[in-house]
Amino acid sequence: MTIDLSTLPAVVPNWVAGKAVVSASPRRLPVHAPATGKVIAEVPLSSAADLDAIVEAATVAQRAWAHVPVKERVQVLFRFKAMLEERLDELAEVCSLENGKTLPESRASVAKGIECAEFATSLPQLVAGRVLEVSRGVECQSARHPVGVVAGITPFNFPAMVPMWLFPLAIACGNAFILKPSEMTPLCSIEMAKMMKECGLPDGVLSVVNGDREIVEAICDHPGIKGVSFVGSTKVAKLVYARAGAKGKKVRALGGAKNHLVVVPDADPEMTATNILASFTGCAGQRCMAASVVVAVGDVQPILDRVAELARAIVPGRDMGAIISPAAHQRISGYIDRAEKQGLKIVVDGRKAKSEGDPNGSFLGPTIIDGTPPEHECACDEIFGPVLNIVRVKTLDEALAIENANPYGNAAAIYTTSGGVAHYFAERANAGMIGINIGVPVPREPFAFGGWFDSKFGDGDITGEQAIDFWMNTKKITTKWSDKHRSNWMS
Ligand code: NAD
Repeated sequence: MTIDLSTLPAVVPNWVAGKAVVSASPRRLPVHAPATGKVIAEVPLSSAADLDAIVEAATVAQRAWAHVPVKERVQVLFRFKAMLEERLDELAEVCSLENGKTLPESRASVAKGIECAEFATSLPQLVAGRVLEVSRGVECQSARHPVGVVAGITPFNFPAMVPMWLFPLAIACGNAFILKPSEMTPLCSIEMAKMMKECGLPDGVLSVVNGDREIVEAICDHPGIKGVSFVGSTKVAKLVYARAGAKGKKVRALGGAKNHLVVVPDADPEMTATNILASFTGCAGQRCMAASVVVAVGDVQPILDRVAELARAIVPGRDMGAIISPAAHQRISGYIDRAEKQGLKIVVDGRKAKSEGDPNGSFLGPTIIDGTPPEHECACDEIFGPVLNIVRVKTLDEALAIENANPYGNAAAIYTTSGGVAHYFAERANAGMIGINIGVPVPREPFAFGGWFDSKFGDGDITGEQAIDFWMNTKKITTKWSDKHRSNWMS
């Protein structure tokens, strides 16, 4: 990495009315680089008073921004997209530093953010309203209006991409957006806010407030904030959905996941093995689309053996990034320790993996646990690390029953060379995003991202056209004109 740490703030500020402002809060947390264990900054945990000042500035800015024509608003996003392309490596390095991902992973996550910014630039083509003469002389028109001041609360695992799922489109829609990033990864957000200002965004339209639970609760309660989009764990998604919803806000809250990959005997062996490996080890398993359980139908042992062989060759710190914190490392290892004690077969043991990373980094190798009963904690909980459990069944219907019994519904995938089997699975698997021979079936824009059940609370997807519905309200205008009002100066 070439990043010059002196270019990053030692104390992470909030972004208020277009300026960096350090919160006066006495509560502060160190920000660690997971790959080295080093403290790279300190982040003050903002208070409700910090939020009041931000909402006040955002409210004033939003009134003016809402009246800027949409074709003009998106010009800022065109410039932002171009700037992201130019500074992709720079932002990716900040992302890798604070999150511990490998650089190629960070680059890919920024590239996805660019795609979201690109979608936002197409807003003028997507928001034109409708008009119809509904009876003689009476016209009904529907028009879309911004919601107002809105907020996004985001997790640690994609410090650049997940905020970019939200703020480019919300801002293009005419809202003022307040971003509350994870306190573990606050640096990318402040960099992106600075970039948006350089792109010509008026002050106050994008703000950043750093903090933890206290500020999230203040966001949910603040009467000046009209919409909240949350991405994080299911436990917190439920809290935010209930709390902000009780205050009458629009809320969409995405939660955790437990994704099943079903392998049937006719699957292409090499493609399936490499794809499963990428799905459970990418981002060190810390993504809501990661493979967590392989449901092996019948005899697919050669494929599973090949996954294990490939997993053993992975060197953490070289091929795989770090785990976000020592606490998360301990939690993930705890699942492996208990599975071992209970007699499950640890086919590949990441606890013993040789790492090429910094000795103080938080590294864990890929782990494969075989013979996991479907009701075991390893087959049910979101472990959120590079741990793959193998559950064995005899038929595809048994596999589907296991997938559909899990309370989450983010992603599910099948590996098969049969179109009929793929179709059967896609029709019956209960998840918002289905992969056919793809272990991380993230829909590319304009197809939208969103799971079901405990993976999402509230209607609609978080990106794409349904996100426009979330960031805008519809107004219906019914008009009657009559000839008798014609003025005599008209022809
Ligand atoms: P998290 O739920 O701990 O934190 C998310 C946000 O909520 C952070 O900004 C955090 O400051 C805040 N927060 C944490 N505890 C809180 C509390 N008690 N009250 C109020 N706010 C609180 O999630 P995380 O550990 O940062 O991220 C990992 C989780 O996010 C995983 O469960 C993963 O599956 C999920 N995730 C889901 C998606 C999706 O699209 N469904 C995408 C990315 C991550």
